[in-house]
Amino acid sequence: MSKKTAVVTGAAGFLGSHLSDRLLSEGYRVIGIDNLLTGNLRNIEHLTGNSDFEFIRHDVTNFINVPGEVHLVFHMASPASPIDYLQLPIQTLKVGSLGTHNALGLAKAKQATFLIASTSECYGDPLIHPQREDYWGNVNPIGPRGVYDEAKRFAEAMTMAYHRFHQVDTKIVRIFNTYGPRMRLEDGRVVPAFIGQALQGQPLTVFGDGSQTRSFCYVSDLIDGIFRLSQSNYHEPVNIGNPGEMTVLQFAKAILEMTGSKSEIDFRPLPVDDPKVRQPDIGLARKLLAWEPKVSFNEGIEKTVNYFRQFLAIPAC
Ligand code: UDP
Repeated sequence: MSKKTAVVTGAAGFLGSHLSDRLLSEGYRVIGIDNLLTGNLRNIEHLTGNSDFEFIRHDVTNFINVPGEVHLVFHMASPASPIDYLQLPIQTLKVGSLGTHNALGLAKAKQATFLIASTSECYGDPLIHPQREDYWGNVNPIGPRGVYDEAKRFAEAMTMAYHRFHQVDTKIVRIFNTYGPRMRLEDGRVVPAFIGQALQGQPLTVFGDGSQTRSFCYVSDLIDGIFRLSQSNYHEPVNIGNPGEMTVLQFAKAILEMTGSKSEIDFRPLPVDDPKVRQPDIGLARKLLAWEPKVSFNEGIEKTVNYFRQFLAIPAC
């Protein structure tokens, strides 16, 4: 029997590359698409020579042309760190809107299942804690994060419209803070920022007083949740994340301890609209997908620290 084909947009990114690995190990043929705006070919170089993997360099805000049969479309492409989408506001809005429309159009034309990578940012600075899927959120549409939050909220609306109006088999995953190997050291997110700073003896840049909370999920757990959701029959949003919540200051201290670093903590101004709390309610994923995170914080951080240690040892070219 010939293999099923999955298209992954953003395949050279952090999550797209891990998802491509998982799909290949599940026996899919994978067509990875990326314009390399924030993705990096280094993340998929281990797939070079794999006859089940094909890479197409393309900006999915333009029509996506994929010949042959496609069974699954995963739309993972987007700048995803606050620094990236502050620097790339128009591209962020375009990939969430036009890119989602094109990826949905591809799924419709191929009668494929479609899955959109949405985000906990849909909840904005939440007034309900922890966040459940039926909470509509507290988003500032015109603030600096609005370009990402509103693009993803539009993407969810467009996805539901394709499901209801065109009967496309769609899924929506709301991804909470995820970390692991292949994150960009300089992407500004708190995990690579603090690990990179700790390993290089630089001060850890804690924004605000560090009392804001986040809940960190290791990448293999997240990808497992996404894969399970893609095989499910559920069409409304599902949170995937690790409910283990901590303050940013606690996180900074944990990184200092786990790396044995002597770095100081340097308090910096809190970015505009930075959510004060974030923690997923994963009751729905537990029930629907029999999913829950398995990798402990210490285990996940250790793997990530090892990755960045190796990465930093590579001489700059
Ligand atoms: N943060 C920080 N120092 C940094 C980077 C981020 O204190 O160098 C904080 C940021 O203000 C936020 C949290 O860490 O409260 C998580 O930030 P991140 O950029 O990882 O993603 P977010 O969850 O805000 O989308």
